[in-house]
Amino acid sequence: MRMKNGKNSRRNHRQKKTGRGRIRFRRVLIWTAAIVLTAVAVYLLLSLIPEDDIDVDSLLQESSTIRFETEPETEPVTENPVPRPDIDEQLLTVNEWSRPGDKVDSIDYVVIHYLGNPKTTAQQNHDYFESLKDLQDTYMSANFIVGLEGEIIECVPPGEIAYASNDKNHVSLSIENCHLDDSGRFTESTYETLVHLTAWVVCEYQLDREHIIRHYDVTGKECPLYFVEHEDKWEEFRDEVMNYIEECKEAAKS
Ligand SMILES: [Zn+2]
Repeated sequence: MRMKNGKNSRRNHRQKKTGRGRIRFRRVLIWTAAIVLTAVAVYLLLSLIPEDDIDVDSLLQESSTIRFETEPETEPVTENPVPRPDIDEQLLTVNEWSRPGDKVDSIDYVVIHYLGNPKTTAQQNHDYFESLKDLQDTYMSANFIVGLEGEIIECVPPGEIAYASNDKNHVSLSIENCHLDDSGRFTESTYETLVHLTAWVVCEYQLDREHIIRHYDVTGKECPLYFVEHEDKWEEFRDEVMNYIEECKEAAKS
């Protein structure tokens, strides 16, 4: 009996053992299923949350596409009817004597000058303006210089102060002109380029005839000499600028 009992008790023990094993197995199964289900649930929940980075990117792409469609990058809003003349850009070094690097308040005037130094070239005058940073003896410059052959050198970018027109420096753009003799009269090439350049500036900054002025009109200085001594030639020059603009507008239409 003891053995039987022993057998029985061993069987019972085995049965209990396998019973516990099944329970453990079920628990493991339940836990595994729970973990898998939780993982799936978390995954599904996460997939419902919008992914910020991707959304921002796609938004940026959309907005840049919209920008591209509504604003073609080529033509400015108001197109200048006067073609930009050839300009040799030789910007001065920023320095307190000829190019302070300060912005103008606005460009309300284009001021016409003559250099008062017969036979000197645009390049020589440019180089003189540049040398003022070392000479440090006077404040002088201009946005543009028109040379004896009609060439243009840009010394100071439009919109930046040049030292040419005294009280009007902060509201103007200045054009210096070379000349051959003491009369201060411009060569034909200089004159033609000056008409073209002035017309371009007038349209670029939406000025009118009355805002084309001489240095003389600012301070009374005899500059540009020939246009001070010949008032009729000055008025003729302003007329030619306005006519040039009209011709360019007509040419653009046809
Ligand atoms: Zn002047």
